[in-house]
Amino acid sequence: MVAIVASSMSAQADWFADSRPMMGTEISVRLWHDDPVQGQHLVEQVFAEAKRIDLLMSTYIDDSRISDINRRGADEPVIAGNELFRLIQRSLDISVLTRGAFDITYESVGQHYDFRNRQRPDQATVDASRLLIDYRLVRLDRAMGTVAFAAKGVRINLGGIAKGYVVERGVDMLRIAGVRHGIVTAGGDSRLLGDRRGEPWMVGIRDPRVDGEVAMTLPLADEAISTSGDYERYFEENGVRYHHIISPSTGNPASGVHSATVIGPDAVLTDALSTSVFVMGVDEGLRLIATLPDYESVVIDDQGRIYYSDGLQQPESQ
Ligand code: ADP
Ligand code: MG
Repeated sequence: MVAIVASSMSAQADWFADSRPMMGTEISVRLWHDDPVQGQHLVEQVFAEAKRIDLLMSTYIDDSRISDINRRGADEPVIAGNELFRLIQRSLDISVLTRGAFDITYESVGQHYDFRNRQRPDQATVDASRLLIDYRLVRLDRAMGTVAFAAKGVRINLGGIAKGYVVERGVDMLRIAGVRHGIVTAGGDSRLLGDRRGEPWMVGIRDPRVDGEVAMTLPLADEAISTSGDYERYFEENGVRYHHIISPSTGNPASGVHSATVIGPDAVLTDALSTSVFVMGVDEGLRLIATLPDYESVVIDDQGRIYYSDGLQQPESQ
């Protein structure tokens, strides 16, 4: 009897997967389930959750809560709602941790970029709005659940942390539903649930300069991995690459690194840290990672050289 149940279950057990363009990137879900209806349903649920979070947190959506905060935050405290409040609080904590390399007020300058239309702020605009990149200008009132800005012109954008939040939430949902093997990816952020049924997941780090090539592949289970690169959103002008990761100290795209990858238990943190390490550069970035137990990093600099944090075993050179 038991054997019959087991074999009829395994006859239906399978991988269920789908990908969709969302949040300005591609989101993909893959999970193992023994019930096709439930398996497909759970894939759908992860997309629905990503949609819900995007509607709350996207600055590209005029009536999102974050757009409301950006419109009114300099005039009055704006109620954020529990979930958004907590992610903004978390972002400010990470600003302290990274000594300002991660700063959601980068948007004070970032709002003047339009990568699709090759628009960038002129130097006067950068000089003026650069001073408004400062996480200390964001005032949170925990009791009231509000967010306010201490200066006019301050803007926030959760683009460096929201995709990590989406994949972390997605995998939480799957775990609670009893899934034991799965992966949720949003652009450069992946959260792995368990392994790939007895084997590790093989996660590639893109070659930052050769489209479609991977620089390396890492075997991982039960981890989050995030990569920030200067190839995701950019345009070139007179040989200069203007890309989407802004150095808060200069107000210009960060230079010196082509991609920064962070691996660890929490996708919210790996996402924010990959952006941070990109901004901080090889030395300072790896020094930060060395202070964080359970977090590792791979950085590819602007000469194509690859650097590993101490806890990672370096592959044999080929
Ligand atoms: P992606 O997966 O899009 O490459 P990243 O994790 O590299 O995402 O984050 C890049 C995004 O982070 C940018 O598109 C922007 O929204 C936001 N961002 C840019 N500079 C900073 C910064 N210094 N601190 C926090 N967020 C930033
Ligand atoms: Mg990131």
